[in-house]
Amino acid sequence: MQVDASGPYAVVTPKVVDELRSIVGERNVLWDDPEALEPYSHDEIPDPEYAGAPEVVVAPGSAEEIAAIMKLANRERIPVTPRGAGSGLSGGAVPIYGGILLRSDRMNRILEIDTDNMMVVVEPGVITAEINERLEGTGLFYAGYPMSLESCAIGGNVAENAGGGKAVKYGVTGRYVLGLEVVTPTGRIVEFGGKLIKDVTGYNFVQLMIGSEGTLGIFTKIVLRLSPKPRASVDLLCLFPDPHTAIALVPKIMSAGGITPTAIEFIDQGSFRQACRYLNETLPYEDAGAVLILTVDGPDADQCEREYDTIGRICEENGALQIYVADNATTSERIWRVRRNIAESYAQISPHQANEDLVVPPARIPDLLEGMETIAERYGIFIPAYGHAGDGNIHTRLVKNPDWSIERWKETLPTILGELYDLTAGLGGRLSGEHGIGHKRKPYMSTFVSREYMDLMRSVKRAFDPKAILNPGKIFDTMVHDEVSTDPLSPA
Ligand SMILES: Cc1cc2nc3c(=O)[nH]c(=O)nc-3n(C[C@H](O)[C@H](O)[C@H](O)COP(=O)(O)OP(=O)(O)OC[C@H]3O[C@@H](n4cnc5c(N)ncnc54)[C@H](O)[C@@H]3O)c2cc1C
Repeated sequence: MQVDASGPYAVVTPKVVDELRSIVGERNVLWDDPEALEPYSHDEIPDPEYAGAPEVVVAPGSAEEIAAIMKLANRERIPVTPRGAGSGLSGGAVPIYGGILLRSDRMNRILEIDTDNMMVVVEPGVITAEINERLEGTGLFYAGYPMSLESCAIGGNVAENAGGGKAVKYGVTGRYVLGLEVVTPTGRIVEFGGKLIKDVTGYNFVQLMIGSEGTLGIFTKIVLRLSPKPRASVDLLCLFPDPHTAIALVPKIMSAGGITPTAIEFIDQGSFRQACRYLNETLPYEDAGAVLILTVDGPDADQCEREYDTIGRICEENGALQIYVADNATTSERIWRVRRNIAESYAQISPHQANEDLVVPPARIPDLLEGMETIAERYGIFIPAYGHAGDGNIHTRLVKNPDWSIERWKETLPTILGELYDLTAGLGGRLSGEHGIGHKRKPYMSTFVSREYMDLMRSVKRAFDPKAILNPGKIFDTMVHDEVSTDPLSPA
């Protein structure tokens, strides 16, 4: 049996609310106030079809309080959805079955800056940008860098294994998570990993938790590894005649140049023009068929200069039309402003968009772009492409043709998305590189992973969450566990 809105979950009664109040304190519970609950019914996806209101919102202040809430939720079989800052783009923090929504903003302390071990211990509700603000002056920094860092929380980053603009050199969030304190769905408090750079003591539950989208446990403490802080950084804007030439350059910078840039962002011709026009920006662009923004950083300006000289030479030798060096904050900001405003600039064409987060092996990006163009032409819509070329992660927005009715758009979108995902899967790609599956992309999981893979995920879920109460309906449809095969690899 599949769990649905009228499924086996109990509703939150006044008695349950009283119990919640006694756990976290009266003022940390929001109930019976639709206006106050509304902000917790969606994340950053604007479409109302992905929204879902909680019955009660609770702001716990400790792992012990969360454990007590989970025990109560287990006893009553009430769904619980963890939420960070709500900046997600896949509906992960949306309580689609109602129930209890767990805020993390009271748990927002940086508990320890351990410079001897080069680690920091934080609570999940810390806004990501604050970590580096607090590390100022230590010579160290936390290298996780989602582009939403001012508006997302570190717990959400771990749950989504957030990537971002610096993943080429520094990798994604998971590379830096060494330890987690986790409250399990049944209300036990467990520690996974710790202040350890090496640890093969049993299964690696830290890595299992990373990217689990709030479905396996609630993080209450996070140990993050720190890195030496680069003291200089320079951005380059490189214009190319076409996407093939731009993308082919990426491995050459690393193999022939011996350089790992901090960021390699790709922008297609249409998106670069659209964003420049939207911003009234006069960067030279009219001839460019594709654009790369590259960043190099290092211990001093001399090293950066050597690296950007080498990159510039390789770009010139490999067909770049023009290269601009931004070695001051004002010029850098002009370049990155264009990248940051692409989405907003397409909203001028139509606010109705599907925001996608495809990932393919980096060398297949040109094939993905070509296929996207073919699909866009066939349907008469915009499918702009931009994103993290260095790691194969291309963001796109399917933008409604302004002449189409909303009904036509809604009817046709699933078919277009299906074609786009088939294309991506055919290139060896995956459904999401960093934004996660949530419930938004769940219907398309079977295009990318096998039945055996899904069964194994369900078995893991069942082991942690026998009553399927923690963030149900995310990544895959939650099944009543009794009906899942006990041997996930047994014949279908
Ligand atoms: C403008 C913009 C730019 C963005 N840029 C990037 C980017 O560059 N890279 C990137 O990866 N993403 C990006 N995102 C998406 C989003 O910011 C990330 O997914 C981020 O990691 C979500 O963090 P959050 O605190 O807002 O989590 P939420 O949206 O609140 O929740 C996300 C998921 O985490 C779970 N969760 C939250 N806290 C906990 C916890 N304590 N324990 C267990 N599970 C928990 C939730 O249940 C949910 O499944 C961007 C979003 C926007 C709006």
